[in-house]
Amino acid sequence: MQSAKSVVALDILKDVFGYSVFRGEQEQIINQVVSGQDALVLMPTGGGKSLCYQIPSIIRPGTGIVVSPLIALMQDQVSALRLQGVSVAFLNSTLSFQNVQEIEAQLLRDELDLLYIAPERLCQPRTLNLLQQTDIALFAIDEAHCVSQWGHDFRPEYIQLSILHEQFPDVPRIALTATADETTRNEIAYRLNLSEAQLFISSFDRPNIRYRVKQKKNARQQLLQFISSEHPQEAGIVYCLSRKKVDDTASWLLAQGIKALPYHAGMDAVLRQRHQQQFLMEDGIVIVATIAFGMGIDKPDVRYVAHMDLPKSIEAYYQETGRAGRDGLPADAWMVYGLQDVIMLRQMLSKSEAEEKIKQLEHRKLEAMLGFCEIIACRRASLLSYFGEQPEKSCGNCDNCLEPVESWDGTIEAQKALSCIFRTEQRFGVNYLIDVLLGKLTSRIEQFGHARVSTFGIGTELSEVQWRSVFRQLMARGLIEVDVDGFGSLKLTEDSRPILRGEASVFFRKDIGQDKKISKRKKMGKWARDFSAQPEDKALWDALRARRKDLALQHGVPAYIIFHDATLMEMVVSHPTNHKELSEISGIGASKLEKYGDEFLAVLNTADLDLSF
Ligand code: ADP
Ligand code: ZN
Repeated sequence: MQSAKSVVALDILKDVFGYSVFRGEQEQIINQVVSGQDALVLMPTGGGKSLCYQIPSIIRPGTGIVVSPLIALMQDQVSALRLQGVSVAFLNSTLSFQNVQEIEAQLLRDELDLLYIAPERLCQPRTLNLLQQTDIALFAIDEAHCVSQWGHDFRPEYIQLSILHEQFPDVPRIALTATADETTRNEIAYRLNLSEAQLFISSFDRPNIRYRVKQKKNARQQLLQFISSEHPQEAGIVYCLSRKKVDDTASWLLAQGIKALPYHAGMDAVLRQRHQQQFLMEDGIVIVATIAFGMGIDKPDVRYVAHMDLPKSIEAYYQETGRAGRDGLPADAWMVYGLQDVIMLRQMLSKSEAEEKIKQLEHRKLEAMLGFCEIIACRRASLLSYFGEQPEKSCGNCDNCLEPVESWDGTIEAQKALSCIFRTEQRFGVNYLIDVLLGKLTSRIEQFGHARVSTFGIGTELSEVQWRSVFRQLMARGLIEVDVDGFGSLKLTEDSRPILRGEASVFFRKDIGQDKKISKRKKMGKWARDFSAQPEDKALWDALRARRKDLALQHGVPAYIIFHDATLMEMVVSHPTNHKELSEISGIGASKLEKYGDEFLAVLNTADLDLSF
């Protein structure tokens, strides 16, 4: 039997948020906090962390105080909650003094379900004083990993949040993060005084994201092909390593008719902000960015994240790709990767002037990333086991599962490549070495007299492209290293000896020749987004999106705050014709039903009329 608490929580889930069932451990977490106890919640991006403190704040007497480091995110959540009929406000530096006073008065009159506060503001004596006079339902500490001094998002203000426990010992606290590793988790528990809190760890799997790594050929063309054939007019993020490449790629895409905008730290701040805003508010914008972009981007309908360069670690890759598909609908993590990426990253690492210990760590992380690119087995399984989970062997939703890759015994070829490096005295780069293997009599080869070495012309069984694949994989596995001389000359490593001596064999991944598109998108959940069979559905979908866009403009909020794509898609599929049927659709709570129900029913009913002709 369900407890009374669960019933109340479920009612709120339905009435306010319009969802019918809890996801994962949401219900247990909510019960824990509602009953006045602390919780530490580790859940992946898009997992549904917000409801875990929003619902208890509504149920418990008093106001839920939410600490959140990002002002943009705060505003987003507050606009969304208001449309859902929740009484909510935020306190941050963007408000006028008069606004602040009004909100403080509301707080004292206990009119707010939730109040979002920036951490530095919370710890000011004025705020603490105010809170002492307030009835507090709970403290939620969002992005709790910001407390970790070793993490990438460290915020000194977060350290002070231990005050909360000292000054308000009876108020339950819930800390939430999408950062999974154990060190960070322990640091959160320690710094925030949460060692007694119940720990809730969800799987970090993002089943709706499809992972794909392609061999880099003509990266831009590949990107264009990917966007225009799989995600026309949809929102996406394209990551590049350098600012220059961001600018070049964005303007090139624009010239090809894709609505692409650049974003990087070297840009004028106002322009950068405008691009971010456009990405959030308008439909179908592609943002081309360095990794400076992303933190605090909570847009749920990002349909893909494309990497034009290799990230430095699996952690970074997972975090960046995690920005796709927060709404649970199918999304792509797409990357192109090639020999040059390996060479460049290897060089960057050897040149790095970091402390030896840090260098070694960076090195290991890069190894893991390269391993992920070259793997023949399931990519999701490899990611999840990297994060300490024990996943299924194959997921059915990554390139390697969908189009199994073959491997081939390349022991002989590896020996040829390695001995070619050795015979030319470890002084040449990959292009030169391939020319020697193929027996090309170039002027440089003549000049160095390498037409006479024993490896000249011994590799004609492979093409140049295939040799590049061999060199890339040898390098990815640490069997070859790149010199720091700046010319990219290749050298043997300790590990390559057993292969040269014939004591070990090597298997390579057979790179897939063409840029084959994985044709049939496996149906996922209720919404396959393939309209080709029913053009009238496409027309309805477009009409619903247009109405949503009008409403979003009217209210000055991003379209997804009115309704998510998933909600519109369900309208297309189930064709509601009245308020009751509309209310059964996921994502439509009582408040939104009242505000927008008629607007959307009008679209749905007109579509019916059109079809009857
Ligand atoms: P996180 O903060 O963990 O990244 P959010 O709280 O933003 O995730 O939730 C991600 C998305 O999932 C949101 O669009 C949210 O409305 C939706 N969501 C959360 N819980 C549920 C649920 N029980 N049923 C359906 N959708 C949900
Ligand atoms: Zn897989």
